[in-house]
Amino acid sequence: MDRYDLIVVGAGVSGLTLARRSVAHGWRTLLVEGDRRVGGCLASHRFDGAAEGFWAELAAHTAYNSYGALLELLDAAALQRLQARHKAPWRLWDGRRLQSVFARLHWPSLLASLPRLFVTDKSGFGLRGYYARVFGQPSYEGLLRHAFSAVLAQPADDFPAELLFRKKPRRKDVPRSYTLPGGLAGLAEALVTGCELRTGVPVERIERAAEGFRLHAGAEVLTCRRLGLAVPAWAAARLLAEAYPDLARRLAQIAPAEVESLAVVLPKAQLALPELAGLIGIDQDFYSAVSRDIVPDVRFRGFTFHFRPSRLTQDEKLERIARVLDVDPTAMVAVAERTSRLPALKAGHAAWVAAVDRILAGQPLALSGNYFYGVSLGDCAERSRDEFARLARSGT
Ligand SMILES: Cc1cc2nc3c(=O)[nH]c(=O)nc-3n(C[C@H](O)[C@H](O)[C@H](O)COP(=O)(O)OP(=O)(O)OC[C@H]3O[C@@H](n4cnc5c(N)ncnc54)[C@H](O)[C@@H]3O)c2cc1C
Repeated sequence: MDRYDLIVVGAGVSGLTLARRSVAHGWRTLLVEGDRRVGGCLASHRFDGAAEGFWAELAAHTAYNSYGALLELLDAAALQRLQARHKAPWRLWDGRRLQSVFARLHWPSLLASLPRLFVTDKSGFGLRGYYARVFGQPSYEGLLRHAFSAVLAQPADDFPAELLFRKKPRRKDVPRSYTLPGGLAGLAEALVTGCELRTGVPVERIERAAEGFRLHAGAEVLTCRRLGLAVPAWAAARLLAEAYPDLARRLAQIAPAEVESLAVVLPKAQLALPELAGLIGIDQDFYSAVSRDIVPDVRFRGFTFHFRPSRLTQDEKLERIARVLDVDPTAMVAVAERTSRLPALKAGHAAWVAAVDRILAGQPLALSGNYFYGVSLGDCAERSRDEFARLARSGT
């Protein structure tokens, strides 16, 4: 039976970056993905038919030059393909009109609270606990909680404050915020180059064996000395129930937050809406709408609305989108949708990570994903960097 030095399960950004490091280290590596395509939440939809040649992001939409652990894995050709995002403003939508993001700040309480910014440590606070303290309750309730929910694509009050806006060095040779031709899925396409890959192979069961691990996928059994799991926390919990029950119990504590994303494409001429990067929903059925205006197209404009789960049917969503964009629904030339799940992390998460890392110490098992350092692409790549370094150091 073929035995790999490392099998990585899950080919989202976490698995891709883990596998890429392993290949560079010289380990015989296999990347196994349950879906037919790689990328996970790097989910750029490339349209055909009437909107042929146009693309829209169904999940991750922006990457930054602070994503060092990701950028260092791209070769010169991939770095050259990074494309600066066109600058456009974010606006608020309260169900009636567009507003500037500053319109909902409450300046007197903000200025009175601001000195606390310099003396309040984020550790242990949720976003509400921290930002209501340093920016004032009215600005938090009126603006920030909606903006954070838009960024995180989930209700954000209890999300750990220390995981958002972590300070990281910026690469000066890379645009501050960027995408690629055809969207961020281009990152997955660049990272997967050179990796031995199997797609459409969902791993169902994992067992420990004398030689390392045995992975069961349908009738197939894959064996490896070391294992990297880069699947969502709840999927990892199921897969590790037999081999690492303590770890599985911890992983099962991370709940999924679902978001239903729907992208629409419209002929440019049909829209009077000013150019924008996106909309933040104020008490709306959607958290945000992300625009394709950041890579202008001569024919079309595109908007991906990220809806709260299980509230609206597709027709109701389209009707809602048409109302916000002030267009007739029949003007839409193409639509695409995807449901994503993100971890609903809670204040105090650092203690959870420390407990998991204690169990992992010395094990030939790496866990990566968006449920350790934060949910951004850069956070995932950092976790993979640290987990790979641990495996390589341990000599297991
Ligand atoms: C709507 C939305 C907008 C976002 N916007 C941004 C943004 O602008 N910028 C940013 O930095 N981040 C953004 N994020 C967050 C970021 O995209 C994700 O946190 C990150 O891509 C997660 O990567 P991952 O590899 O950990 O997980 P995933 O992308 O979920 O990948 C996990 C992979 O594992 C596979 N898998 C699962 N179970 C199995 C199994 N049993 N066997 C084999 N394979 C399996 C899945 O099919 C999937 O491909 C956004 C996320 C969402 C949902």
